[in-house]
Parts: sequence; C-alpha cells; structure tokens
Amino acid sequence: MQAMKNWYQTHPHLFHKRLYDRPGCDSYIAAQHQPSDGTGEPAWSVPLIAQAARAEGVKIVAPVAVRGIETQGGQVSHVVTERGAVRASRVVVAGGAWSRLFAGNLGVSLPQLGIASPMQRISAVDGLPGAGAGSDFAWRRHADGEYSIGIQRHVAPVTLDNFKLLFDFLPSLRHTNDLLTVRFGRDFFESLRLPTHWRNDEVTPFEQTRMLTARPLLKESDQWLAYAARAVPAFAKAKVLERWGGVIDATPDATPVISDVPTLPGLFVNTGFSGGGFTLGTGAGHLLAEVIAGEKPSADPSIYRLARFTDGSPLVFRH
Ligand SMILES: Cc1cc2nc3c(=O)[nH]c(=O)nc-3n(C[C@H](O)[C@H](O)[C@H](O)COP(=O)(O)OP(=O)(O)OC[C@H]3O[C@@H](n4cnc5c(N)ncnc54)[C@H](O)[C@@H]3O)c2cc1C
Repeated sequence: MQAMKNWYQTHPHLFHKRLYDRPGCDSYIAAQHQPSDGTGEPAWSVPLIAQAARAEGVKIVAPVAVRGIETQGGQVSHVVTERGAVRASRVVVAGGAWSRLFAGNLGVSLPQLGIASPMQRISAVDGLPGAGAGSDFAWRRHADGEYSIGIQRHVAPVTLDNFKLLFDFLPSLRHTNDLLTVRFGRDFFESLRLPTHWRNDEVTPFEQTRMLTARPLLKESDQWLAYAARAVPAFAKAKVLERWGGVIDATPDATPVISDVPTLPGLFVNTGFSGGGFTLGTGAGHLLAEVIAGEKPSADPSIYRLARFTDGSPLVFRH
C-alpha cells in the first residue's frame, strides 16, 4: 500500500486517482477511484455515432456482408458484398474479431486472437455507481439502473486458428499472467468446419453468422455475481436478465492495428483493439482517415503499423 502511495506521488501528472485504504468491505484491502473517468451506454452511443456519420454524408447499409475485394493492376478497385460490387480505391478492414478471417482470405496475415469475454445483465438494484473492477468481479451501472456484471479475466477458447497463433501470443500470455484462461471444448471442433478461403461469388462465414458471439459461462457468471454480492450485499437481490459472451479482438501486444497493408495497395486495417475499442474507436478512425487522406497525422501512426509483427520489432506492451 505504501509503495503504491509513493508511486502515485511520483507520477502526479499521469493520474487523477484517489487511493483508499480499507475501502469498507472485507474482501478488499485497498481501492482506487478515478473521478475523471466516464462510462458510455453503447446501445445509445453507437446509433448516435452512425447518425453523426450520416449527417457528414456517409452512406451506411446494414446488414450487408462484405465477401472480399477485387484488384486492378495490383491495386484495390472494388469491395464485393453479398449484394454486389462497389467501386472503391481505398478500403478499410474494420471487422472487429472477424478482421483476421477476412484479411486471411486476401492473403494478408493479421495476428489477432478471438478472446471470449462473458457478461451478464442483471436487474436494477441499489449497487455501485459508475463502472469498475475488482479481482473477482467487474461492474457497469446502466443508465436505467440495471448492471452489466463480468470480470476482467477472459477466456481463450482453443480453436484451430488460435492454435496457429500460439507462438505469436506466448509473450502476451506471459504478460497477462492469470488474466487469460485457455479452454478446450466444443469451439475447437466447430472451428474445424470454419472455411478460411472462399471466392467472391460464394456465401461467406459473415453471412452464415451475422453476429459473432462467444458462449456464455453460466457457472462462472453465478460465481462473479456471488462475489459482487459479497462485496455489496444489494447485488444479492438482483435477477439475472441475460447472459452472453462478446469476442475481443486481441493482438500480440494488446495494441490496435491502424495501418496500410504494404502488400496490397489501397487496403487499410483498423482493428485489434484488444478490449479497448469503445474508448479508442473514434480516435483510431480519425487517425486512419488522416493517413488515408495523406494529411499530417494527429498521432504517431507508426506504433500501430501492421508490419511491426513481421519486421523484427520487439513487442511493446503499452497497458
Ligand atoms: C464484454 C465486453 C466488454 C467491453 N468493454 C469495453 C470497455 O469497457 N471499454 C472499451 O473501450 N472497450 C470495451 N470492449 C471492447 C469494444 O467493444 C471493442 O474493442 C470495439 O467494439 C471494437 O470496435 P470495432 O468497430 O473495431 O469492432 P466491432 O465492434 O466488432 O465492429 C465490427 C463490425 O463489423 C462487422 N463485420 C465484420 N466482418 C464483416 C464483413 N465481412 N461484412 C460485413 N460486416 C462485417 C461485425 O459484424 C461488426 O458489426 C468490450 C468488449 C466486450 C466483448
């Protein structure tokens, strides 16, 4: 605790955090609070972002699966969707956890692991404000008083593709320590049936699975809720309304790829947010737009380049 206090004193410019000794519940010896943090309601903010984009003249058509791209003279010329081709000389792959599969079909290697992040929504109770995480549960209070309850540990299901990425991710597995559990199960056998290559006139996995999700973990979810109730008894009164699993697009250094694709002129990638894309997404989009337009970038794009995984650079973990 003293070491933490000393560290805070020597880094006042980095944090506006408050540290609490004995925060008032037995299972925690200390807590930190960052009052300047905010939370967002994804169900509200995402449609608002789309609305703002439309107001700028962007045309959004959904749901339409993109099957691939076409090239002319080695340069991207069209995006091919399930409803036909669209002429485009610059294309951004921003497919979240699907990006690796899509890029792979184009012959572009994008080391990105699909990590399951199980979640549950519970009824409104008089629990904790805002959002935060302890060692055994994490919470976010919704605008209507309901909560999302999960945990900061994630599950890497063993799939054929995840297996192929094992060596790329070994340093990351060591870095994240016990934050990641590797699990063998049904996902492996299902992954054997997933096509990795297709033609642009064939039905793709993106049409067969419109929304990529992971299996919810029922037993573990019960446990996290019990831990939440142990720390804050009001959570014991909550009813479970929904359980699901999201898929996190993790890169070997937990840093996104916001980059051109040197081997395919006209193709760009904006993906691999490693669990931070709700916060980083708009800034990342802004940065890539500057790069594509040939404007002076507002941040150094080199740390996000795709080539860092192949040019011999050491992996740098930024969080
Ligand atoms: C449980 C959970 C909690 C999280 N909490 C936080 C948090 O607190 N803070 C934070 O910053 N981030 C958080 N994240 C991470 C955040 O949600 C992601 O980083 C972010 O959504 C990534 O945005 P994206 O646009 O890159 O990808 P996505 O949101 O996955 O969007 C990609 C879209 O492209 C579509 N798509 C893919 N391939 C195709 C195709 N071929 N054709 C057509 N459409 C396609 C997909 O269907 C999807 O709609 C959390 C994630 C999970 C799962």
